Amino acid sequence: MPVLDIHAHFEPRMFEVEPMRAQMMSHGVDKVALIPTMNDPLPETPAGLLGFVRALMCSPAHSLANVLQRAFMKDGNLKLQGKIYEIYSEPDNSQVAVVLRAHPKLFVGWIFLNPRVTADQLQELERWRMEPGYIGVKLHPHWHGWEIQEGEAIFRRCEELGLPILIHLGFGRRGEWQWVAEKFPKLRMIFAHAGMPHFQRAWKKMRDYPNLSLDLSSPYLDEALARRAVAAVGPERALYGTDAPYGFHAEHDPNVYDYSHIKGWVERLPISSGEIDRVLGANAGELLEL
Ligand SMILES: [Zn+2]
Repeated sequence: MPVLDIHAHFEPRMFEVEPMRAQMMSHGVDKVALIPTMNDPLPETPAGLLGFVRALMCSPAHSLANVLQRAFMKDGNLKLQGKIYEIYSEPDNSQVAVVLRAHPKLFVGWIFLNPRVTADQLQELERWRMEPGYIGVKLHPHWHGWEIQEGEAIFRRCEELGLPILIHLGFGRRGEWQWVAEKFPKLRMIFAHAGMPHFQRAWKKMRDYPNLSLDLSSPYLDEALARRAVAAVGPERALYGTDAPYGFHAEHDPNVYDYSHIKGWVERLPISSGEIDRVLGANAGELLEL
């Protein structure tokens, strides 16, 4: 059964295609879905801070996590350890297209759209959707700072075209996923990082909408939270993803992303081997029509 990482960032300044391919080979990952670069290369977030934010988001005081994350933003960019890291308002879809053409068996890609800035997002979608290897749309209302309703034309067109959307939800109006699910019931959406920052507040409600699923990517989660997410939504709604090159690095070399880490979370899930295969690849294969 092929293994598909449905959430990785194209970031050759941290992880070039060749070492990526080597890691995929040595850890049995058959295909990776790449997201066009949206920010400057980021420093490692301390594990303690990640754990704190995770606990906060899962607690009744989750709205404090919004206050906390605002402290790390300045003028639409990230401010970490006193340094500004730019968030690109118009990620360049052409770079990933080049990789898709060069390595059609190894990679597929997400078309990155931001309704906040580009004059005609639908034109940008039309420009790339016929490009071989592009399988859906990535949206990031959290970092790009738009309210979910601003994406209406994109949601509508993706529903018409049957294109899935991978979305990193935000707080408040940037995260009103139920508005989208109600208005576009046929639209297939994957919530990045297990629906962060909503986590369990979204998991139960998601069951009412058959076209929603989530990925298990990123050090924003840990193994325990990934298990809770899969238990809540069911293994048929959960997809393996990594957030590479962010997060887990090989012990022998901190510059190498460790492709075994999150895969290990999935392989150790307390579910049947058939269900593990679903999470590792079969669900994504069906959803992305690969
Ligand atoms: Zn990501």
